[in-house]
Amino acid sequence: MEILFVENDVEGGKKAFEILKKGIENGAKVLGLATGSTPETLYQEIVKSDLQLTNLTSINLDEYVGLGEEDTQSYHYFMNDRLFNKKPFKQNYLPNGKASDLEEECKRYDEVIADHPIDIQILGIGQNAHIGFNEPGTDFDVTTTVVNLTESTINANKRYFDSIEEVPSQALSMGIGSIMKSKKLILMAYGEEKAEAIKNMIEGSVTKDVPASVLQNHNDVVVIIDKDAASKLSKKK
Ligand code: PGA
Repeated sequence: MEILFVENDVEGGKKAFEILKKGIENGAKVLGLATGSTPETLYQEIVKSDLQLTNLTSINLDEYVGLGEEDTQSYHYFMNDRLFNKKPFKQNYLPNGKASDLEEECKRYDEVIADHPIDIQILGIGQNAHIGFNEPGTDFDVTTTVVNLTESTINANKRYFDSIEEVPSQALSMGIGSIMKSKKLILMAYGEEKAEAIKNMIEGSVTKDVPASVLQNHNDVVVIIDKDAASKLSKKK
């Protein structure tokens, strides 16, 4: 893992943007994208830039079960609002949270991923070290699944909803097995609430209890963290 220490999320977004831009210049055609507060500054950099994405395909990590593109808390809405409406891609794929048959939808999404191998995957990390919505205990070889969100994740995400009862209890998530097949991974984390997860991911053993620790087994991972997220690491520079 290459670890880049940054001052804050603004600098982190700029760093991630530089890496992404270079990757696209070098031929990356499929971007794996993430939602949440972490990638917002990266998306702002993309929107500000003159980078053209009209030849690129995006594949998002996850979506809440029960929410559709028109729901303002859906990840589909988030992506349209933060990026896709401002920087059109050739095509955008997200799991369909409103699919009537969720198992079929998982199969469809696995086919999408198989047909469009991901060149660069953007990742955040949960306070419990989830990646995508792959919660602790998830097998490392899993593909797209319906996930029951943990209490920690529901609590962390309630800020986007009027009340905790409104946070969906399930999501569709690209699996760790698919994330690990991406050629390059860029994981960003900001804030002290991510410090424990970052320490466990980088310095702990590779274990299903810490889903992000699997990234130690990938040969091209860049981790971008601010001082607070790095605060529990034994080596901070
Ligand atoms: P956040 O979420 O960017 O909103 O902190 C990250 C995640 O849960 O993966």
